[in-house]
Amino acid sequence: MKKYVRCQYDNQTYYGLLADDTIHLIEGDIFAVHEVTDRIIRMDEAVLLAPCQPSKAVCIGLNYHDHAAEMKLALPKEPLIFLKPSSAVVGPGAGIEYPAISHNLHYEGEFVVVIGKTARNVSAQQAYDYIFGYTCANDVTARDIQMADGQWTRGKSFDTFLPLGPCIVSGIDPHTVDIKLYVNDEVKQSSNTCQLIFSVPAIIEHITKVMTLYPGDVILTGTPSGVGPMQIGDVVTVELSGIGRLTNTIVRG
Ligand code: MG
Repeated sequence: MKKYVRCQYDNQTYYGLLADDTIHLIEGDIFAVHEVTDRIIRMDEAVLLAPCQPSKAVCIGLNYHDHAAEMKLALPKEPLIFLKPSSAVVGPGAGIEYPAISHNLHYEGEFVVVIGKTARNVSAQQAYDYIFGYTCANDVTARDIQMADGQWTRGKSFDTFLPLGPCIVSGIDPHTVDIKLYVNDEVKQSSNTCQLIFSVPAIIEHITKVMTLYPGDVILTGTPSGVGPMQIGDVVTVELSGIGRLTNTIVRG
């Protein structure tokens, strides 16, 4: 298991390997040729950024048994996919902007797959070869706009609507991860990725029948039960066991 971060340090952007409270700076791109240097900095000397820069985020609609039961929805026959734009990505600690044109902003805590190499027509059996690791996301949604439009793009694509981080963890089992979401320290979502309707390999097979995934692209695997509203000033945290906590504050857009 390795934990990778992306950070700002000394006016430069670095990838780094996380070890306790220190970051071993990496020379190069973790998705290509790179080298772990002997330069070690403390966590508090760096500002963490989103741990990758995806060309796109592919998201799964309904994908948790507990969420389907909560919404009294029939289980989908195949994964429903939609996209969030790369312009929505922000890092740990960044503000999530509450749009002036929305009156119902929701959190969706999600377990995220980070792609490690170019993937097209990848079978479920081969899928793990294409995974770099896993991170946390909040699939921030202007629910009123999503529902009014029918199409989900506008309601899910405002700038700042895709917090990612704090790190990418490799080498863990993606189907035994506890997922929790807190608003101001109150637990709002609590589940485990064993509740996923479509497994990570099945999702990768489904998506790559349609489109090419590039290194650093992310797949948001869906949200468990308990989605709900956020207000300006709220502090929202997505916590995944073995990965970490992604915390953001809601600010006026
Ligand atoms: Mg979602």
